[in-house]
Amino acid sequence: MRAWQWHKSESMRLVDLPKPKVKSHEALVRIEAVGVCGSDIHYYREGRIGENVITEPLVLGHEYAGIVEEVGGDADGTLLGKRVAVEPGIPCFACEWCRTGHYNVCSNLFFPGGPGHDGALCDYMTVDARLCFPVPGSMTAGCAAMVEPVAVAVHTVELAALRPGDTVAVFGLGVIGLLVARLAAACGAVRVLGADVLDYRVAAAAQQGLSAGFTAKPGGLQGDGAAAIAWIMEQTGGRGVDVAMDCTNSSDGLSLACAAARPAGRCVLTGISGKEHDSLPVSIARRHELTLRWCRRFLHNYPAALALLDSGVLDASALITHVFPFEEAPEAFALTSACADGVLKASIEW
Ligand SMILES: [Zn+2]
Ligand SMILES: [Zn+2]
Repeated sequence: MRAWQWHKSESMRLVDLPKPKVKSHEALVRIEAVGVCGSDIHYYREGRIGENVITEPLVLGHEYAGIVEEVGGDADGTLLGKRVAVEPGIPCFACEWCRTGHYNVCSNLFFPGGPGHDGALCDYMTVDARLCFPVPGSMTAGCAAMVEPVAVAVHTVELAALRPGDTVAVFGLGVIGLLVARLAAACGAVRVLGADVLDYRVAAAAQQGLSAGFTAKPGGLQGDGAAAIAWIMEQTGGRGVDVAMDCTNSSDGLSLACAAARPAGRCVLTGISGKEHDSLPVSIARRHELTLRWCRRFLHNYPAALALLDSGVLDASALITHVFPFEEAPEAFALTSACADGVLKASIEW
């Protein structure tokens, strides 16, 4: 089968790899779509996310969907022939964290497209059949691959413990931030304020159906973010927001979220700065007795993500700004890495 292997910073080559063989509990998925994620871009550019270092050659890609072509003897036979969204991380289902309901922090997690494990930028993947979620008949492969970031947004909002009438700030209006903003509004937030360093994302947010109660900071975040915080304070009468979400790929997100939250407010930190250490504004976090929660991907949120997409509460197709054929996968990475041409989600489709 064909596969795109990363071998050095900003460089991938097309190679031939053996087609994987399905084990008894697995499904063989013929890949139809892979979305390019911010975390992929860290690996693509820097070869690492903090202490997670990849070594070449490695196939990237973890947001994927495809058709189940084969199932093992112990796997769910009804998956055969279906288009599925695949939860990429494969937990062991046996360690203490798995057994206490936190499989997203499994000690033995196998994560494709991360250190030591090839990802989905190839023709076929085998995966534990329990992690395959059939999608509604009308859902395109590109949207099915978007179930992964949608599940991250669902988990983010879940961690925020939103209450009706809450005010929310979202820092970073990429795909995750836009989904989080819309979902927060759907969950009863009366005002959702958004900010991003890129003007095109601020403009996109205004056009993405984020109208009701959603306001994006004109001119983005700028510099140290002081202007964005001043704007949030002005918008909330100096109070701050009930919940601040960091959906940036920057070290500033944590400080911004802490500065925007009201006293006794909550911060959910979903962005990946890519650094091993970021500084924490301990003074304000302590004085305001903030609750900080970090989001690690998702925790059985695919069913909710699929239901939100199917019902139209969330619209993934509006976020897919660019589609590339498999043969042009490196272009999708280069475009996303450069934040060029108004890119939100670049989808690689077979
Ligand atoms: Zn992702
Ligand atoms: Zn485990």
